[in-house]
Amino acid sequence: MNIHEYQAKALLRRFGAPVPSGAAILSASDADAAIASVTGPVWVVKSQIHAGGRGKGKFVEAEAGELGGVRLARSAEEAKSFVQQMFGRTLVTKQTGPAGKQVNRLYVEEGSAIEKEFYLSALVDRTTGGVAFVASTEGGMDIEEVAASHPEKIHTIAIDPATGVMPHHGRTLAKALGLTGDLAKQAEKLSATLYEAFVATDMSMLEINPLIVTEDGQLRCLDAKVSFDSNALYRHPELAELRDLTEEDEKEIEASKYDLAYIALDGTIGCMVNGAGLAMATLDIIKLYGEEPANFLDVGGGASEEKVTAAFKIITADPQVKGILVNIFGGIMKCDVIANGVIAAVKAVGLQVPLVVRLEGTNVEEGKRIIAESGLDVLPADDLDDAAQKIVAAVRGRN
Ligand code: GDP
Ligand code: MN
Repeated sequence: MNIHEYQAKALLRRFGAPVPSGAAILSASDADAAIASVTGPVWVVKSQIHAGGRGKGKFVEAEAGELGGVRLARSAEEAKSFVQQMFGRTLVTKQTGPAGKQVNRLYVEEGSAIEKEFYLSALVDRTTGGVAFVASTEGGMDIEEVAASHPEKIHTIAIDPATGVMPHHGRTLAKALGLTGDLAKQAEKLSATLYEAFVATDMSMLEINPLIVTEDGQLRCLDAKVSFDSNALYRHPELAELRDLTEEDEKEIEASKYDLAYIALDGTIGCMVNGAGLAMATLDIIKLYGEEPANFLDVGGGASEEKVTAAFKIITADPQVKGILVNIFGGIMKCDVIANGVIAAVKAVGLQVPLVVRLEGTNVEEGKRIIAESGLDVLPADDLDDAAQKIVAAVRGRN
């Protein structure tokens, strides 16, 4: 689960991290009070969307002006005019896709005088099975680009979960960022604070880009992006309240109600698969035959008929979907349950696009018989390769 920058900063502040003071604007009537709570002389007005690259982003509407989604105002009046220009407008950044995202929340922050910009993140490192910091002196820019062109400028500091963060980790971080003296001490403290916040709230990712040194020698988190591990959210009901459903895909919200692992994608072939590995293989083979999947969907090992029906409804409700591939290996999940679920779903929502079903495993003969006798217009397939070719051909035949 992702949260907004202003929420992430409030959370980090609670753990004692150095964050500029600021106030959120959730509706237009909040603007005056929020701007008045910042003393200036510089007000930073920041679009709050779940996507990065806001500073270099562009609004769709001309009324929003040319200045991007993060703006520095020199007076309260200027800050107010930026709020009016940006509020409710659609911001397109490198990460939003061409459609952009509507800015429904803004954040007004005390401006900082920047001496240096760094990159700092914490994540779960699969290699070590622990939390690692990733740091670079090349802050404020696209870290993927730095990783590609200057991998030597990216430093990874792995932390053993048994010891937790230690002073030497902080010193290594300071060294990686070229900090000495008091700033090195601040970096040491920051590493402990961020690690504590990360572990205590079950984050999966924390990114500070940029982490800055101010002109008066203070380390400060100028941007903050936080993702929580959704599987641990039950332990943090107060964090679940930070969820902003308007930032999420409606289909993904619907899927989460049924505990389905669903990710919306850009292609045309809707996929219903059990098991994440098989789902990945299914996406790959669709691409191999030259089409693009419309979603990743893992209905899980022991899905009920109800869950299968819900999954099918979500796929068919997507106007992008021009064909559906059901690819199930019946292990714990039995093929006849899937077959009944598919039929129930088709009867409930109708079927306007070609449907290929490939079943294998437990009760496969029973499953195939149920589908064959249902009278539905289903293209049966014998294996994954055959299934992928059939759905790709069917989708192309319609274009
Ligand atoms: P992003 O573009 O979505 O990553 O948004 P950021 O919060 O990182 O802001 C983009 C850029 O705006 C930063 O990299 C800074 O260069 C600039 N910026 C943000 N806040 C301030 C500030 O308080 N003072 C100054 N001078 N620049 C700022
Ligand atoms: Mn940033």
